[in-house]
Amino acid sequence: MASSKVLIIYTGGTIGMIKDAVTGQLTSFNFDHLYDHVPELKRLNVDLDSVSFENPIDSSEIKPEDWQKIASIIENKYDDYDGFVVLHGSDTMAYTASALSFMFCGLKKPVIMTGSQLPIGIIRTDGKENLITAIEIAAAKKDSEAIVQEVAIYFEYHLYRGNRSTKFSATNFEAIQSPNYPVLASAGVEINYDWQELYRSKEDQLSVDTDFNTRIALIKLYPGLNFEIYKSIFDRATTDGIILETFGSGNAPSDPIFKKYCKDFIDQGGIILNITQCGSGSVLQGHYETSAVFNEIGVFSGYDLTTEAATTKMMMALNEKNKSKAGELLQNNCRGELTVK
Ligand code: ASP
Repeated sequence: MASSKVLIIYTGGTIGMIKDAVTGQLTSFNFDHLYDHVPELKRLNVDLDSVSFENPIDSSEIKPEDWQKIASIIENKYDDYDGFVVLHGSDTMAYTASALSFMFCGLKKPVIMTGSQLPIGIIRTDGKENLITAIEIAAAKKDSEAIVQEVAIYFEYHLYRGNRSTKFSATNFEAIQSPNYPVLASAGVEINYDWQELYRSKEDQLSVDTDFNTRIALIKLYPGLNFEIYKSIFDRATTDGIILETFGSGNAPSDPIFKKYCKDFIDQGGIILNITQCGSGSVLQGHYETSAVFNEIGVFSGYDLTTEAATTKMMMALNEKNKSKAGELLQNNCRGELTVK
């Protein structure tokens, strides 16, 4: 059987590091020498190429420009490869996975992101298994069709939908979770895909949207929050969209100042999206009296969106100048990122 072709895109992060034998410091290795560092790859029946960011970055430095860079590499090479593996630091991997999922419409090939908690050049690394299995998934086909046709994250034996994922542990090898969506595949002796949960786009043609509006803000509520300190955030001169991380199923204190800030912001054309700060579950606006006000003043429900998906989706939805269309986009399930309740 002809082998699949996979392109590895190295953006930075721990996975691509080795220990300098002299200084003992961790430095990024040259991906042209990938096979020297991971000789096991030679035994995979996959044709591999790699490209690397000129200056690999810690994922805390990631910006929309980097998402555009990754997306344009994939768009330009889309016809040349069967799948793509994006190596990325785990800290903000779920943001990049979410952003890429919204950027690509009509994706029919796998874009598998992975990274590791320990560098590939360290004996106990989790990076080798993550890399090898991510490549296998990016290469996997059934009846000549890619099995995975979406942006996903592979980490520690599990494949997760990218825009449902979140970094859950700073130290465990099992660093990523998707609390509101089943895992797409589990890797044991074999890779077992959950076929029912895999995303399929209805669009035939790939199109890539690369515009992000970063005039957004994220406010996490907490008891005792002094809303006056946040006044400047509700200024339409600087802000187009606000995401509120509320309590439980979308609830907030009935503080009249908060209500006024939100209402004025919306009346002046701003958009507010309500997501829950709970690790799992969904916003049910109006279920309690403490969330009914949001329906009254026109706050949109983000249902069970993760913070990562909400922020990146908001940055893209705000490109839609018609406010009710932008709200519709935010509340609709575009790439399998939310479940409407
Ligand atoms: N700080 C690193 C990063 O996110 C951690 C990692 O690679 O997982 O780039």
